[in-house]
Amino acid sequence: MPQPDAIAWGTGKRRATTFVPSNPYGQLPVSFCRNVILILLMGVCTAGMSSRVLAQATPSDQISQVSVINALLLGQYQGTLPLKKLLLLGDFGLGTLDHLDGELIILDGVAWQARADGTVRRCEPEMTTPFAVITPFDGEETFDCPAVTSLEHLESMLDPRLPSRDAFVAVRVDATFDLISLRAVPRQEPPYRPLAEVVKNQAQWERKKITGTLIGIRSPAWVTGIGIPGFHWHFLSQDRLSGGHVFNCRFESASVTFDRCRTWMIQLGDSLETQGKNLNQDLSKELDQVERQRGTPSPTQSD
Ligand SMILES: [Zn+2]
Repeated sequence: MPQPDAIAWGTGKRRATTFVPSNPYGQLPVSFCRNVILILLMGVCTAGMSSRVLAQATPSDQISQVSVINALLLGQYQGTLPLKKLLLLGDFGLGTLDHLDGELIILDGVAWQARADGTVRRCEPEMTTPFAVITPFDGEETFDCPAVTSLEHLESMLDPRLPSRDAFVAVRVDATFDLISLRAVPRQEPPYRPLAEVVKNQAQWERKKITGTLIGIRSPAWVTGIGIPGFHWHFLSQDRLSGGHVFNCRFESASVTFDRCRTWMIQLGDSLETQGKNLNQDLSKELDQVERQRGTPSPTQSD
């Protein structure tokens, strides 16, 4: 049986021949075997699977999450899952890295790190993540999106074209952006401060006339406390030199592809049990500060 390390790291595409052929959790280390795995089946989970994906370890319509958002908000930045194992769960996603060291971007099966100094580098297989969301991206439908003047505008254009708001949807937007506003969180050292405090020192910048891809995950409102309700966007430029968490964007036209995810899997690391944090609290205000910020200045005023 091939080991997870046998995955063609960084080849840009996951191939069935390099994937573990059965249950991926059997490949995880002992610590992860003790993890609680919550699988919430939404609809008929076998619907929509392609023969290609059935040959792989992770169902094509599964969206997987490492940890819960309240843990990240409370300062749990210690990486728990190596990226080489995360990539067994998909080829499209986003998150952050050990020590909250920047923004994690997963596109076409390759993991990238956008750091607070504005640089982007390819992740190493042994790097770990404390929070990530990932899915095997099998585009169900592609459509053209006309001009948008802001990220909120884009989201309002997308919602009527996407499945129900109660569905998890992965959204890929390819465009040449007239402007995009990005941020990356700076690496932290313990004792960790809450995320809402850390983002006060986040690096923000803008890029103009840049071609690239938005990696978007839209989650239902009812994931509050566990995931990030609504849209969450990261960006990676075509030349792989620029990326980050997206505040705002503007473009004349874009190609949009989406993938509905019917199975939600959450992997809880041991650290959740030992940190003594009270995860059972309403941190939606903090989440709005951290993830729901929308960019300023208005892109229409910034040329
Ligand atoms: Zn983000």
